[in-house]
Amino acid sequence: TKWVYSFGDGTAEGKADMRNLLGGKGANLAEMANLGLPVPPGFTITTEVCTYYYAHGETYPAELKGEVEIALAKIGALTGKTFGDPGNPLLVSVRSGARASMPGMMDTVLNLGLNDATVEAVAALADRRFAFDSYRRFITMYSGVVLGVDHHHFEELLEGFKLRGGLNLDTDLSADDWAELVVQYKAMVAEKLGKPFPQDPHEQLWGAIGAVFGSWMNQRAITYRRLHTIPESWGTAVNVQSMVFGNMGDTSATGVAFTRNPSTGEHALYGEFLVNAQGEDVVAGIRTPQDLTEAARIAAGSDKPSMERALPEAFKEFERISKVLEDHYRDMQDLEFTVEKGKLWMLQTRSGKRTAKAALRIAVELANEGRITQEEAVVRVDPAALDQLLHPAIDPKAERKVVASGLPASPGAAAGAIVFSADEAEAMKQQGRKVILVRIETSPEDIHGMHAAEGILTSRGGMTSHAAVVARGMGKPCVSGAGSLRIDYAAQTLTVSGVTFQKGDVLTIDGSTGQVLAGEVPMQQPELSGEFATLMGWADKVRRLKIRANAETPLDARMARSFGAEGIGLSRTEHMFFDAGRILAVREMILADDEAGRRAALAKLLPMQRADFVELFEIMKGLPCTIRLLDPPLHEFLPHTDAEMAEVAKSLGVDIERIERRRKDLHEVNPMLGFRGCRIAIAFPEIAEMQARAIFEAAVIAAKSTGEPVVPEVMVPLIATKAEFDIVNAVIQKTAKAVEAETGAKLTFQVGTMIELPRAALRAEEIAETAEFFSFGTNDLTQTCYGVSRDDAGTFLGPYVQKGIIEVDPFVSIDVDGVGELVKIGVERGRKSRPDIKLGICGEHGGDPASVAFCDEIGLDYVSCSPFRVPIARLAAAQAAL
Ligand code: PEP
Ligand code: MG
Repeated sequence: TKWVYSFGDGTAEGKADMRNLLGGKGANLAEMANLGLPVPPGFTITTEVCTYYYAHGETYPAELKGEVEIALAKIGALTGKTFGDPGNPLLVSVRSGARASMPGMMDTVLNLGLNDATVEAVAALADRRFAFDSYRRFITMYSGVVLGVDHHHFEELLEGFKLRGGLNLDTDLSADDWAELVVQYKAMVAEKLGKPFPQDPHEQLWGAIGAVFGSWMNQRAITYRRLHTIPESWGTAVNVQSMVFGNMGDTSATGVAFTRNPSTGEHALYGEFLVNAQGEDVVAGIRTPQDLTEAARIAAGSDKPSMERALPEAFKEFERISKVLEDHYRDMQDLEFTVEKGKLWMLQTRSGKRTAKAALRIAVELANEGRITQEEAVVRVDPAALDQLLHPAIDPKAERKVVASGLPASPGAAAGAIVFSADEAEAMKQQGRKVILVRIETSPEDIHGMHAAEGILTSRGGMTSHAAVVARGMGKPCVSGAGSLRIDYAAQTLTVSGVTFQKGDVLTIDGSTGQVLAGEVPMQQPELSGEFATLMGWADKVRRLKIRANAETPLDARMARSFGAEGIGLSRTEHMFFDAGRILAVREMILADDEAGRRAALAKLLPMQRADFVELFEIMKGLPCTIRLLDPPLHEFLPHTDAEMAEVAKSLGVDIERIERRRKDLHEVNPMLGFRGCRIAIAFPEIAEMQARAIFEAAVIAAKSTGEPVVPEVMVPLIATKAEFDIVNAVIQKTAKAVEAETGAKLTFQVGTMIELPRAALRAEEIAETAEFFSFGTNDLTQTCYGVSRDDAGTFLGPYVQKGIIEVDPFVSIDVDGVGELVKIGVERGRKSRPDIKLGICGEHGGDPASVAFCDEIGLDYVSCSPFRVPIARLAAAQAAL
């Protein structure tokens, strides 16, 4: 086995498609070297070493040491320096690099190879102040990452030193000052560890390599892997690279860039840089970075020179390389670079993270530029991320009381009560409040609070700060770097231009403009045209599955159509019963003592239901509509208060005790498994009859008014046996005949059933003899397959996920192995007796991309989901088909 792969000077032993072995960073460094781009020479220790390390009691393969020595010598040959040489020392960086990027999870050490002897050589060759500044940075980083000495110990020493010397900024410290601090740093480390800071560069190197492998198993990395389902077996690689310095004066710089704007997708180089700065300074958000291009500088109204002006030669070269890389990878790239005394070096390239809006625009434009196909564009956009686009924006007509401005770090608008800690955000969210998390800056420790918040606001940090990157990933609005905010954690206040906001005060942030606004500002739904419509059109060309929506109100139905639904897959008629104008009649129906009483109440409901369906059919203009008969437990409609009881009693002409008694009769211990679904239609066929009549009469009316044939699909809920279906079906068929006779119209319709109980799935063959379609109700099917109450699961499913008993909540993403098996059985057996049976799904899973893929695989005809998820389902269905 080969454990170490070298790169540099226009060649490399690895390449881009060796990501599994070399990690993402290592593979792309090799690829850049192969492309002849300026990459500081280095080598990658493979992920297989990590695997070996953990399989063999944290030891290395025997050959590794030798291979590393050879690779170090190669770097030496290319740079003319020698690792550990007190005359002309090679300094290196050590970085982790897993297959999938794991931001903030692994650690980096820069300037490795510095010790009391080599620092003097660097001082002699370069600059004494630079040498000791680098040495103290190295001691701080190495101690933190490898030796476990926290950086605040170093900061205390530095602050104390500045205070005593009357010094303000780091830049005020002289070479001797840094040299003195290095002495203090080393003494402090020696005291804490009981042994001196390692002086042997080889010991330093192996310490750093061990720390990278060790960090693969740190808690943050483990949590991140769990959240992103990254297997532990993948391991991380280690990248060792010759140092280049962005802090060697005004012709040196370091920066990060995207080849296109990661927020908007605009086709323009986008990024930030800092003159005379090292590595992590840009990301850390301590100094405010400068723009790369003149255009960006002017747009931002900044008076700090752009890179285009400050370092024109290096900028031109960088611009050229960014084009080469985007062409090569055929995707937007996220780049890191350093300029050392005017010479540009590339440190990283990878596919850039982007907002859904940017992902859409970039995918569509790359396809229009002919660099990728339309199918590739469809695959490039994460369906779940489309959610971001469906977020509200601030109503342009609304009055904006701007209290501060920051960077538009993640688009969308959000309003909520301000809180100043992640824990507080979580706690308030649990109380049902909407919150905006306000921090000076965020760190990985704040993730749970960012999750809980509607939006994030920081006073420090750029577009690539932690807050910005994480918020974009989560699809949450974020305004970062609002520098005029004074945030006081102790007092729990935020002050800006003399106005103080307390914890709990409501602010609105606009992550698309960077504005912070007082109070809750009115919002507006996004415009679904442009690239969104284009990509959806491409998706529609390739998908096989039809997409319908679960809708019953005219509002939902219109929304569903505007999102591209091709029909209604589930109309829950009970939702039409709750309206203020009709609940009394519904209660009369339930509480009536006999059929005559029920029929009297149903006669009042009939015209209302009919009007509902007419409107629905008219909105859907000939598209298929599945209407489900009354499903939920009857007691849900019962009167609760004394006033409500009295009202019903009066209307029915009975005394209140009768109502009370009937209410007790209907009480159920376990309503979800009780008197609901088709059981109601079986006990009270007149209810089904009224609903069927309303549907058919509406079909006749709507067919006339729209000029389109209306073909209703009448659906019977929660059956377990064929006999149940047949009894209810007979009522529906008889009603159809009656309506035909009365109206003289010829009805076309189907009667089918939901498959949402395991018994129905198992007996699907005989059920399909009479049922003309199946719609899998995977909400109830999950509940009954698992024996887990869908209403109470929240309290105990969380720990199940944490303990790894289940991977995801089966109510969110279909449990393919169990519930999915039942669906498959239902499909197969149903087709046995009715080969062309229409098959769909209408549980919540219909809008979950993984479940949509499953539905495609088993050959369903359509999925039906809530209107907002229709675009997600369209895209997921297209990806499933490709
Ligand atoms: C289902 O059970 O999956 C379903 C769609 O019906 P409901 O959620 O109304 O029970
Ligand atoms: Mg159900």
